[in-house]
Amino acid sequence: MFFGSHVSIRSGYLHAAETAYKLGATAFQYFPKNPRSLKIKKWQEVDAQNCASFCQKHQIKSVAHSPYPSKLIPESKEMETYVMESLYNDLQIAESCGSIGVVVHFGTTKKNDILEGYRKMIEMLDCILEKWDGEAKLLIENNAGTGTDMGITIEEMIQIRSLVDKKEKIGFCLDTCHAFASGLWDGDNWKTLKDKNLSYFHHLDVIHFNNSKYPYRSRKDRHANLMSGHLNETQMQQILNDSDLEQIPFILETPKDNSMSHQDEITLLKEWRTHYRT
Ligand SMILES: [Zn+2]
Repeated sequence: MFFGSHVSIRSGYLHAAETAYKLGATAFQYFPKNPRSLKIKKWQEVDAQNCASFCQKHQIKSVAHSPYPSKLIPESKEMETYVMESLYNDLQIAESCGSIGVVVHFGTTKKNDILEGYRKMIEMLDCILEKWDGEAKLLIENNAGTGTDMGITIEEMIQIRSLVDKKEKIGFCLDTCHAFASGLWDGDNWKTLKDKNLSYFHHLDVIHFNNSKYPYRSRKDRHANLMSGHLNETQMQQILNDSDLEQIPFILETPKDNSMSHQDEITLLKEWRTHYRT
C-alpha cells in the first residue's frame, strides 16, 4: 500500500522525496510552489526529474497540492486568469516530478447562485485542460462544508467530471476529515457509500487520510491526528484496509497532536494494516 504525509519542498523536490523515504513512506504530497500565492514558478527541471527517478526507483507515489488561493470559482476576471495560469503551472511541475496529479478543492461561491458556480467551474476546468496534454490530472477534493453547500456530495463530483470536455484528466481526492465533517461519511457507512457511487470510486486517485477535531456534520475543516479526533480506530481502519484502495496513496495532512509525528503515524498505519490482515 501507499502511505505518506505532506512534506516540505524547502530544499527542493528530490529532497522532499528523500524526506518521505526516510519517514518510511511510500507516498507523499507537496506544494509545487509557495502555498499562499498564485505566482508562476520557474522550477528546476533537473531537480524535478531527479525526484521522479528517485520515486520510480523506490516505488513512491507523489501528488501535488495546489496553492490555497487556487479557487475554481474565482471572484473576479483578474483572479480567473491567475488561477488558470497557476494551475497549469502546477500541472507542469507535477508532471516533471512524476506525480499523479494536482489536488484542487471543489469550488465555492459566496453568492446564492450555485448553478452559476458549477457553470463557472466547468468553464475553468475546460480552459485549463484544453491545452494540457500531460499525464498529470487535476484531482478534485471534497469540501468540509464550512460556509458552503458546494462540493460536499459525491453526485456533484461525478456531475462536474462528466461535464468537462477532457474528463480523462479529472480524478478525485477524498478527504476523510471533510467527508465526516460534511456528513458524507458517518464513520460507519463506508460500504454503502462505495456501493452507491461506483463511478466516483473508479476515478478516486488520492485519499487525504485525516481524523476530525469536530464531530460528524460539524462542517468544520479541522484535521486531527490518527489517534485523536472523532473517528475511532475501527472506522479509520475500515478505509485503510479496503482492498480496492491498495493502489491509492493515503496522505496524512495531520497536525502534530499528542506529540505524534508523521513518522509515528506512518508506523501506526503499517501496524494497523498488518494487524488487520492477520
Ligand atoms: Zn485534504
